[in-house]
Amino acid sequence: MNAFAYVRPKDLDSALSLIRSTPKARFLAGGTNLLDLWKMGVEQPDTLIDINRLGLSQIAELPDGGGLSIGALARNSDVATHSLVTERYPVLSQALLAGASPQLRNAATVGGNLMQRTRCYYFYDPNFPCCNKRDPGSGCGALNGFNRIHAILGQSDQCIATNPSDMCVALAALEAKIHITGPSGERVIAIADFHRLPGEQPELDTTLRPDELITAVDLPAPADTKHNLYLKIRDRSSFAFALVSAAIVLGIGEGQITSARIALGGVAHKPWRVPEAEAMLQGVKPDRATFEKVADRLLQGAHAYRYNQYKIPLARNVVVRGLLAASA
Ligand SMILES: Cc1cc2nc3c(=O)[nH]c(=O)nc-3n(C[C@H](O)[C@H](O)[C@H](O)COP(=O)(O)OP(=O)(O)OC[C@H]3O[C@@H](n4cnc5c(N)ncnc54)[C@H](O)[C@@H]3O)c2cc1C
Repeated sequence: MNAFAYVRPKDLDSALSLIRSTPKARFLAGGTNLLDLWKMGVEQPDTLIDINRLGLSQIAELPDGGGLSIGALARNSDVATHSLVTERYPVLSQALLAGASPQLRNAATVGGNLMQRTRCYYFYDPNFPCCNKRDPGSGCGALNGFNRIHAILGQSDQCIATNPSDMCVALAALEAKIHITGPSGERVIAIADFHRLPGEQPELDTTLRPDELITAVDLPAPADTKHNLYLKIRDRSSFAFALVSAAIVLGIGEGQITSARIALGGVAHKPWRVPEAEAMLQGVKPDRATFEKVADRLLQGAHAYRYNQYKIPLARNVVVRGLLAASA
């Protein structure tokens, strides 16, 4: 392990000034992803800025009437079990509880979960020489390698990695807003614009700048909490990342769907939404034939590789089964 400095700022301004003056520094939240990457040699920070004293762990109603503000340092387990989350955003609670293990959820934070990196084997292990995400320009080992867990939508010939987060899939379906602070002040990014597709720059996972800090995630007031669902398919029933998952948030009134948001996980470099597919559900009665057409539209353009062909029918089945269960 390389020598490094460890600092524990007590306020936001100190944390921001440290990251600005130390380009190879990293923020430390729960450490559950950063330390793994460091031990593998993927990350090599010269300074750890421990942000755990910044007091960003609130889970509180927004003054706007009905929305919720979740601090970047709120632990995944605290968010998952908070009554405001279980009652108003059950899809978020379900997604968080489907991730990792209780011990990891006790340490992992909302900000760290938003920033967690792909689980692509070629990225995670520097013994593989090719990974454009870890070493831009070196090639993509997964493209012709063992690509069982890889993307089927939105990928590029530079990178076919997926975003591994469960929480972010639920946040996408809930249309969360990410609050950020940096040298030019505060800004807010819609979750849909926070994670990127790989394109020509797969080394960039998000639109967060290196000298910015996530402070909070805001959720809008929920419309209908009865027809929320997170469905995750994985190799084991616990302690495994999603092969395919879906967060479904429906509004239903008088037997008809009044609003629909569907986000898919495990299929792309970011949670995957297709507004045209969601629009097909507006004003219709829940029914399998419509759900199958919606699934086809969501997966339009999907492209699989040698080992992940199973993901296309699996994702279709997840969408149909999820919609049937959520609308029941
Ligand atoms: C064995 C194992 C199994 C797992 N299974 C799952 C799973 O099934 N589903 C799932 O979704 N996740 C899973 N995870 C991942 C886990 O959810 C993440 O490791 C965790 O959410 C990261 O949060 P953290 O606070 O520990 O982040 P850290 O490791 O502290 O930080 C991660 C990154 O985020 C940056 N960062 C942290 N906070 C901020 C902030 N406020 N602003 C800007 N940058 C910040 C750090 O600098 C670092 O680059 C698993 C992890 C492990 C180790």
